[in-house]
Amino acid sequence: VATELSTAIDIGGTKIAAARIAGDRVVERHQIATPRSGVFADMVDAIAGLVPADWRDGRIGIATTGMVRAGRLTALNPTTLPIPDDSPLEQALSEALGVPAQAFNDAHAAAWAEYELGAGRGATTMAFLTVSTGVGGGVVDHGRLQVGADGFAGHLGHLQVALGGEPCGCGRSGCVEAISSGTALARIGSRVLGRPIDAGALIALAETDADAARVVDVAVEALVALITNLRADNGIDCLVLGGSVGLNPAFFQRVSAQVAHLRQIFRPALRSAELGHDAGLVGAARLVAR
Ligand SMILES: [Zn+2]
Repeated sequence: VATELSTAIDIGGTKIAAARIAGDRVVERHQIATPRSGVFADMVDAIAGLVPADWRDGRIGIATTGMVRAGRLTALNPTTLPIPDDSPLEQALSEALGVPAQAFNDAHAAAWAEYELGAGRGATTMAFLTVSTGVGGGVVDHGRLQVGADGFAGHLGHLQVALGGEPCGCGRSGCVEAISSGTALARIGSRVLGRPIDAGALIALAETDADAARVVDVAVEALVALITNLRADNGIDCLVLGGSVGLNPAFFQRVSAQVAHLRQIFRPALRSAELGHDAGLVGAARLVAR
């Protein structure tokens, strides 16, 4: 049986990718730097120029950073994606590409891909957590992706785990993202060690240096607090951890060790994400095909 090809677009803060998808694989990809003019039409034009005519042969799934509500996109952090709030993404891309386009938050799309084709297969209630520059995620419950009333569901990085803790980019403090993200690890690690260090180097150093280990362990504790909260809130039976920090073997090992010490009722199955950087593209293609 030939695997059907479909097209998906991934809109990120630094790059926009268009890809042809077959099953759980990207078979061809075009990529450009994200336009930073602040004009929505420039982004639409750039995407139209990125998608070849022969790829416009069916519904197109879009995975994008930011919040998607009724097909319209708002960048929660305008420095990440400089477009006006409430930009009509689906309508503009459907018109520009000549085929129906449907948009999803990128972490939601990745969560769906992991649920359907990756590490979350077989789960009843799954949370996906991606820990890289920031912390994002998504929850799938009994085959339904949770998006909430306005697309804000699943912003798991902004669950607060330390009252009065580190300031977060969202304006609050003590969010998981402010403690456990790669950005936070670099910021706190550099402060504690008194020299600039990035997240990967800090995690490696934690194997031999007590100060580095303490910073990483606090980040892991915050993440495990979040996992425990998700278990208590949604009753998740499976937690899929991804992102460049989440997939770092030494970091995953520390998360796994702390989770193993939780009381059994608070402990979901912990798995590494399987679909990597293409999960958003694959998930958007799958969601739009449903
Ligand atoms: Zn926050």
